[in-house]
Amino acid sequence: MLIDSHCHLNYKGLIEDQVNVLERSRAAGVGLMLNIATRESEWDAVLDTAIREPDVWATVGIHPHEADEHPHVDTAKLVERAAHPRVVGIGETGLDYYYDHSDRERQQRSFRAHIAACRQTGLPLIVHTRDAEDDTLAIMREEMEQGAYSGVIHCFTASGAFADAAMALGFYISISGIVTFKSAKDLQETAARLPLDRLLIETDSPFLAPVPHRGKPCEPAYVADTARFLATLRGESVEQLAAATSANFHTLFSKVA
Ligand SMILES: [Zn+2]
Ligand SMILES: [Zn+2]
Repeated sequence: MLIDSHCHLNYKGLIEDQVNVLERSRAAGVGLMLNIATRESEWDAVLDTAIREPDVWATVGIHPHEADEHPHVDTAKLVERAAHPRVVGIGETGLDYYYDHSDRERQQRSFRAHIAACRQTGLPLIVHTRDAEDDTLAIMREEMEQGAYSGVIHCFTASGAFADAAMALGFYISISGIVTFKSAKDLQETAARLPLDRLLIETDSPFLAPVPHRGKPCEPAYVADTARFLATLRGESVEQLAAATSANFHTLFSKVA
């Protein structure tokens, strides 16, 4: 069984055909999907999908791109929504200095509010980071001193040094379809050496379809292609990789029944 630890089933590209998307995922051996929230206006829809589908679980959070639009979303609000039995993680949150769609200070404040929600709920954090390694790590470390929390660096594309530092804080590293791209040599090098007990896999669908589906909207079924590529890269069997990443997912997202 494979687990897609990060997808956006309610985004354009998947929502129009969600029933068939889910059917194809199940046929491809995907036993569980984590449906990730990115803005307050979609929280209900993201959760509704998880309530309706027994193999879909939900998160609550504000993407760093959306930080400017959500000055009122604080720790208390996240904690309140996270109380639902189908909400099993906080995020995605983090820092994105590549696009800079939101003010950096507001991104940082939002990131810290999410971490505080993790500490209060005991739920894991889903971190998005792009061109912001130093600040991401500094905030993760500072906040860790306020009290322990756990989490995952999703759609990992950062440096090997960043992966090591995140793992030293107890974080997991989630590999997306980007690893299958010819251009992703550095990522492939890092992904090949990450300890198996720290690894998760994801699609981040509808974005980033892996080889051989590039150009199409990505969907959770394609996590199987990423798993095959990653297993070959690491010299493991797909079964081994699937078993380990699924076990890791359940260790981290322990609220999943
Ligand atoms: Zn992201
Ligand atoms: Zn995402």
